[in-house]
Amino acid sequence: MHRVESYMAGAWHRPAVDGRALLDAATGQAVAELSPPAVDLAASVAYGRDVGGPALRELTFHQRATMLRNAGKVLLSEDIKEQLYDLSYCTGATRADSWIDIEGGAGVLMSYASKAWRELPNSTVAVDGAIESLSRDDSFSAVHILAARKGVEVQINAFNLPVWGMLEKLAPAFLAGVPSIVKPASVTAYLAEAAVRLIVESGLLPEGALQLVCASPLELAGLLDCLGGQDSIAFTGSAGTAAALRAHPAVTERAARLNIEADSLNAAVLAPAAVPGTAEFDIFVAEVVKEMTVKAGQTCTAIRRTLVPERHLDAAAEALAAALDGVVVGDPRDRDTQMGSLVGLAQRDEVAASVAALRGAAVPVVDSCDLSGVDPVAGAFMAPTLLQATDPRSETVHTTEAFGPVSTLVGYRDLDEAVELVVAGGGSLVASLYGADRDEIATLATGVASHHGRVLIVDENMASASTGHGSPLPPLVHGGPGRAGGGQEMGGMRGVFAHMQRTAVQGSPDMLTAVTGEYIGGSATREHKGHPFKLTFDDLEVGDSITTGSRAVTRADIAAFAESTGDKFYAHMDEEAAARSPIFNGLVAHGYLVLSFAAGLFVWPDEGPVLANYGIDRLRFAKPTYPGDEIHVVLTCKRKTQLDGRGYGEVAWDTRVVNQHGEVNAAYDVLTMVANAPGVNGAPEARSHD
Ligand code: NAP
Repeated sequence: MHRVESYMAGAWHRPAVDGRALLDAATGQAVAELSPPAVDLAASVAYGRDVGGPALRELTFHQRATMLRNAGKVLLSEDIKEQLYDLSYCTGATRADSWIDIEGGAGVLMSYASKAWRELPNSTVAVDGAIESLSRDDSFSAVHILAARKGVEVQINAFNLPVWGMLEKLAPAFLAGVPSIVKPASVTAYLAEAAVRLIVESGLLPEGALQLVCASPLELAGLLDCLGGQDSIAFTGSAGTAAALRAHPAVTERAARLNIEADSLNAAVLAPAAVPGTAEFDIFVAEVVKEMTVKAGQTCTAIRRTLVPERHLDAAAEALAAALDGVVVGDPRDRDTQMGSLVGLAQRDEVAASVAALRGAAVPVVDSCDLSGVDPVAGAFMAPTLLQATDPRSETVHTTEAFGPVSTLVGYRDLDEAVELVVAGGGSLVASLYGADRDEIATLATGVASHHGRVLIVDENMASASTGHGSPLPPLVHGGPGRAGGGQEMGGMRGVFAHMQRTAVQGSPDMLTAVTGEYIGGSATREHKGHPFKLTFDDLEVGDSITTGSRAVTRADIAAFAESTGDKFYAHMDEEAAARSPIFNGLVAHGYLVLSFAAGLFVWPDEGPVLANYGIDRLRFAKPTYPGDEIHVVLTCKRKTQLDGRGYGEVAWDTRVVNQHGEVNAAYDVLTMVANAPGVNGAPEARSHD
């Protein structure tokens, strides 16, 4: 039988001793064997720090993003993903469940890669926020930078999504430059092992950036003991384990960072106006049923509490019971099956105990189904179970998480009570609200936001586009306060930056430019003799600058611009009205006229390395431009971002339009695409016009 292996310190390690059998959730047959790892776990921390960390930190954000994207592609390739699907059936998951885990997981890598390309610079340090000027003459400034911590992250995952749960932690850590040591949940470790093996064998990630430790919690203790202030622990699992980790000396004494995603009593709320017969009522019923049955209810975001206005309780119970009656529970390998089994018999026992506790405060609406096609003794099958609270305020209902296909209907009197009941969950990952009445939904959303990491509002208009209650998305925050652990994962670049140290760096603009690689206002520039637009991406340097000649802005220019564009705002047309304004001292030029004149001053007309202007950032009209003003432009290369293999890169130009008094009328970043030198980065060897 396959003995689950660990990948540590650059090699796969097969345990030397027999271990416990991991069973197929649906058939009870042994799938693999889990034994204590054969090597010193502390060595993997040292390897991550000494080999993985330096290798990752040497790469730019964009290089890391390319690797992630390629790893995602590997997992999505047809023959490879089927290997994972085959193993995933053993966890009790149907094909559709496994899609969320496997393809959803690979999708997180791809999504993070493209976000990083768009939102992070092609360097190893990110700048956070604006420059802070600390002196009148701008000779002393500060900037916040984000740099990778020089440690490792131990990622302890739950059993339910062995692939997605691993990759959604790996992606932001990897992009940040922090090596991951993954500890999968034991019961589904064989699936996590297979996914890691595929990534490792692809050779796409730097050695030491990803390690896998298949160990019991007891054995893991040796690894956690090595962690300190540059390391982090990212945990997903139960509140009980979370409490033990919070008390670990690595956290309490050595300040290792700890992020917790724990259990969660997520709610769905049917708003009062979404009465039976409305589209929102039907969508609500369908979503509750979906959340109860996807992964047999073993998702962190599943709807555990289903809140309905008291007067619609009967209608909701009836509609939910009818929909649940149609759910086919059975062998996850069977394509007709809509809900497979729980992950194992022990998990089924745990859920049964939670249901028994809930039944002290609720009565069953649905608790049986046809299981004739499966072996309900060897397989961890369970009927979708809908309960109805006898006392909506019962503490048991709001604190008992049955991590299976279980939800409890709770009636509420009014919106205030709905909010009160939802927050009685003590903090959850997600709440979803169903209704078309804006006032009701606004009251509910603002009322429950304090206790949730995500709120989904569903009405008829967006339902077909909605990704649903249960889908954490890479650009959005995943995590919740209080009982849900107080952690945050993903959330786009927020999740990356959480792995980095934010440092305020103070100094002269020249030094800040040297540290960040971006031109900081006030630092030295190199006045260009010709025109910097004639330089290729490779010849251009941050700080290359040009000061243009000047031109006058006349009344005739303003009148002509108003006429040709149709922009006849009073401040450009009516001298007296403009003078009355608290902002202007008389007629002013259009801001867009100033921008257009500025472009006329700095643009180099010929076909050349500057291929296109794709936008403007940070535009501010700092001072009005009056007829008679003489303006010129100071244009400085601010930031260069090479786009991999495209033959060009992005260049941002710090642009200031300055008047005859030396005052800045307009300041902004002009964004351009600039060609590489011939033959560099995929650029053609020679241009046809050369
Ligand atoms: P669990 O017992 O807490 O296990 C989770 C992970 O922690 C497993 O890898 C487990 O390893 C490990 N672990 C257990 N004790 C440990 C210790 N003392 N020190 C270090 N690691 C330890 O949770 P579970 O019952 O398997 O998972 C279900 C729970 O996870 C549910 O409550 C669910 O709500 C929660 N969950 C939350 C999210 C989220 O994003 N918020 C997502 C999924 C699941 P072994 O497997 O080897 O014991």
